[in-house]
Amino acid sequence: MNSVAIKALSEQHIINTYGSRNIVFVRGQGATLWDADGKEYLDFFAGIAVVGLGHCHPAVTEAIREQAGTLVHVSNLYHTLPAVDLAALLCEHTFADKWFFANCGATAIETGLKLARRYWHLKGTPKPGLIAMNQSFHGRTLAAISATGQPKYHEGFAPLVSPITHVEFNNLAAVEAAITPETGAIIMELIQGEGGVRVATEAFAKGVRDLCTSKNILLILDEVQTGIGRTGRLFAHEHYGITPDILCTAKGLGNGVPIGAMGCTDEVATGFSPGSHATTFGGNPLCAAAANATLKEILKPGFLDNVEKTGARFLSKLKDLAGKHSTITVVRGKGLMIGVESREPVAPVIQSMLAQGIVCGPAGPNVLRFVPPLIVTNSQVDRVVSALDAALGAA
Ligand SMILES: *Cc1c(COP(=O)(O)O)cnc(C)c1O
Repeated sequence: MNSVAIKALSEQHIINTYGSRNIVFVRGQGATLWDADGKEYLDFFAGIAVVGLGHCHPAVTEAIREQAGTLVHVSNLYHTLPAVDLAALLCEHTFADKWFFANCGATAIETGLKLARRYWHLKGTPKPGLIAMNQSFHGRTLAAISATGQPKYHEGFAPLVSPITHVEFNNLAAVEAAITPETGAIIMELIQGEGGVRVATEAFAKGVRDLCTSKNILLILDEVQTGIGRTGRLFAHEHYGITPDILCTAKGLGNGVPIGAMGCTDEVATGFSPGSHATTFGGNPLCAAAANATLKEILKPGFLDNVEKTGARFLSKLKDLAGKHSTITVVRGKGLMIGVESREPVAPVIQSMLAQGIVCGPAGPNVLRFVPPLIVTNSQVDRVVSALDAALGAA
């Protein structure tokens, strides 16, 4: 079937929550995608920072294949080895002592928010209040949109989960001023992804950590997008020299297989007990096997250093380009999570990139976002930079 026929069927049968979509992808390999009409693309979006190892990475494909022929799913009423291996590997490489596996980013966030509430409840000092950041994004469940600091995601869904106070990102005084005796947790991204690739300053990140410690508040870091090597470290908080009390991650964890995870200290984990939280699919053998294979590749010596190097080179080339095009106001990011902010809406630029065979995406109306597979080469980066040069010239 060609893309026109597939698109027509899609519009007939799938609820239109994604707006107008014109391309039908049928195959991927590394950083390359092919559409239903045979056109080839260089993928610098990676399914929104998901396919870190590139499409159909052989180690992940093999792990999925092997697990698919062994055991795909049993209920979480039983132990399974892939989930245990995954939790142990994550514990070995993070501050966390214990993990809960969810299905995606939103359910990992939901888990973290519920854990914070129940932790303080069991302590006998219920503190249901949450502080979150303006322009943040935490996912699409009701609690996650409530925490999300962008009104467009709230429209039509009231009443939202409360009490949640939103404050200006990178403004420590605003966070401090918002703290009340009922504040039990602060949630934030260290680089706001959907909100425009906005990077937390070191003073802000450290300041929020210190406030949480001194005021007995749990710090929840949403590393759904920044985690799993995206910024050149396994998790972005490593750049800042801080650790959260609760860490939520997802996107890159399964290299495309849906899985989310929430990690915390032994102390905070006491907030959950048998029966207090659960999921049917979370951490099932198939998804956990894919995640294990993904993490093992990312943790190989030199892999993350390479992400950092490629990202720094990409960032500096984009900054050079910004000097040439006055529509670009700022280029920012860490590792291979980069935003290019424009005075103009970026939708036409994205279209022009697609026409040139390059996939990238927006982060809000005025920011172009590059979150390529972590394995992209310098020559692929150069191709994207010159395509952007052409797109901006034409736009
Ligand atoms: C994508 C994202 C989420 C939601 O993840 P889903 O898998 O779409 O539910 C939450 N937080 C951040 C920072 C994200 O980028």
